[in-house]
Amino acid sequence: MAITVPANGGSNSPELERLERRIAQLCRFIGRSPWVFHINSGSCNGCDIEIIAALTPRYDAERFGVKLVGSPRHADILLVTGPVTNQSLERVKLAYEQTPEPKMVIAVGACPTGGGVFYESPFTNAPLDRVIPVDVYVPGCPPRPEAILQGVVLALEKLVEKLKGGSEK
Ligand code: SF4
Repeated sequence: MAITVPANGGSNSPELERLERRIAQLCRFIGRSPWVFHINSGSCNGCDIEIIAALTPRYDAERFGVKLVGSPRHADILLVTGPVTNQSLERVKLAYEQTPEPKMVIAVGACPTGGGVFYESPFTNAPLDRVIPVDVYVPGCPPRPEAILQGVVLALEKLVEKLKGGSEK
């Protein structure tokens, strides 16, 4: 079952500290750091900038090893932004197929979550779950970095469940 981050998920320092502690805890449980592959499926770049912000010094998810990789073959988590334009459709499917199991998919922003401003456009294929399975939805246009980190926490929790042989999507 997919999970949705609350719209106000994590917006102050104590909450950010809680997210950071939780990411570190989950990384220890998994025994390694999760690597992420980011796919822009036709976004306006708003969500993409927030993903970069989540990795750079203010939020610094990279210090837990949560880093961007250049190939889906190396990734544990796919971060998908944008409304899946017709031009990006096959690329999104291919990236999903190339990501090794167990994998998690996070839809970042209103576009992949529900279509956003591109809802029912003939040039897009949103929501993302029409194209590939989605584990976590992070709404917002764009979502704040704290909400993206909350999405990573939820994805890691689902990954732990998968690794334990628990709930499957
Ligand atoms: S959700 Fe908003 S900010 Fe993100 S890609 Fe879509 S239009 Fe841009």
